[in-house]
Amino acid sequence: MSDGNMEKRFFASVGRKISLLGFGLMRLPILNGVTADIDYPTAERMVGRALDAGINYFDTAWIYHENKSEVFAGEALSKYPRDKYCLATKMPPWVVDSAARAEDIFNQQMKKCHVDYFDFYLMHNLCTDNYEPAVKYRIYEFLHKKKEEGAIRRLGFSIHDTTEQMTRVLNDYDEWDFVQIQINYIDWDTLGSKRQYEILTERGIPVVVMEPVRGGALASLTPEAASVLKRANPEASLASWAIRYAADLPGVLTVLSGMTSPDQLEDNIDTMTGFKPLSDEERNVLKEAIAIYRASGAIPCTGCRYCMDCPSGVDIPRVFEIFNHYRVSLASIPGLARIVFGNTYRSLTSSEQAHNCTACEVCVEHCPQGIDIPKYMNEIADFAASS
Ligand code: SF4
Ligand code: SF4
Repeated sequence: MSDGNMEKRFFASVGRKISLLGFGLMRLPILNGVTADIDYPTAERMVGRALDAGINYFDTAWIYHENKSEVFAGEALSKYPRDKYCLATKMPPWVVDSAARAEDIFNQQMKKCHVDYFDFYLMHNLCTDNYEPAVKYRIYEFLHKKKEEGAIRRLGFSIHDTTEQMTRVLNDYDEWDFVQIQINYIDWDTLGSKRQYEILTERGIPVVVMEPVRGGALASLTPEAASVLKRANPEASLASWAIRYAADLPGVLTVLSGMTSPDQLEDNIDTMTGFKPLSDEERNVLKEAIAIYRASGAIPCTGCRYCMDCPSGVDIPRVFEIFNHYRVSLASIPGLARIVFGNTYRSLTSSEQAHNCTACEVCVEHCPQGIDIPKYMNEIADFAASS
């Protein structure tokens, strides 16, 4: 197996070189549009290619692909020598209702992933709501014991919440080897990413970046914003700008990309092989594209699906995806944008459409982006009715 010329970083607290591009196993290729039905042949080829290119960080979680991502990770990665890859997975505090349940989940994860240790292990999204069961059932203490026993090499947490909540977690437990936060060029100034990054790096804690391409939104942008980037560099993909933006930051251990196709993987490998930081000129180009994109009014949904399932059957991320596509196409193809919206929206079943939203708000607390989902569902339902 060759090891490519993939950019790698070393942090003393991590103890080994980690590829600056990490493979997020939450948006793997699937069959027939079914999230749990991973396209094994394609996804396994992608894992082999990633390893060959020098990617050595793979990030899964209990909930990804409806609890099937860890199984895939185990089957795909166990074909390779254990020292060729680092595997990260996560404990979902919102599923834990006793100390015994946390232990049961951990044991199942070891079996699913075919490993006897995890290189990286995270408490998944320690936002305010998830923090309560995490503290109540002493999940940190349990995981720390697992680390002492050697079943976890590095212990961290991920978070989608305020800077205050992140700081609270950092202060309550002083031994964190890494922290995973959302960083991308759209949210840098608006969702507290910058301040969170600064706090972590001031404390010398390596940062794992999630959502660098904002669930794929920054790989398409709006036609006007995209043309600014394309004019500046016709060869570079839109995703490569987003990946480079995050990877450029010192203190970043790895940038996770949830890759769905071999093409996306190749594009990311190209970006991170012989990695080039953004120049001042490129940063100015990016500022121009950001201003244009923000003006489009796209809903900031990343497609993470944490809000699902909706008790009324609404396919929240898909509704937002279709509506965002309309919004970002509006300036360039106004008449056609509405027709395309109507056609794609009607491809949803009636129960998946926005008018079924009862504003129960069950989804709202699960959305890491803080989106007022019922409000938008109401607007989209009205819009669809008039289309
Ligand atoms: S607020 Fe609407 S979209 Fe959200 S869970 Fe309730 S019915 Fe579903
Ligand atoms: S609405 Fe929020 S939770 Fe649901 S997919 Fe979008 S970003 Fe994720």
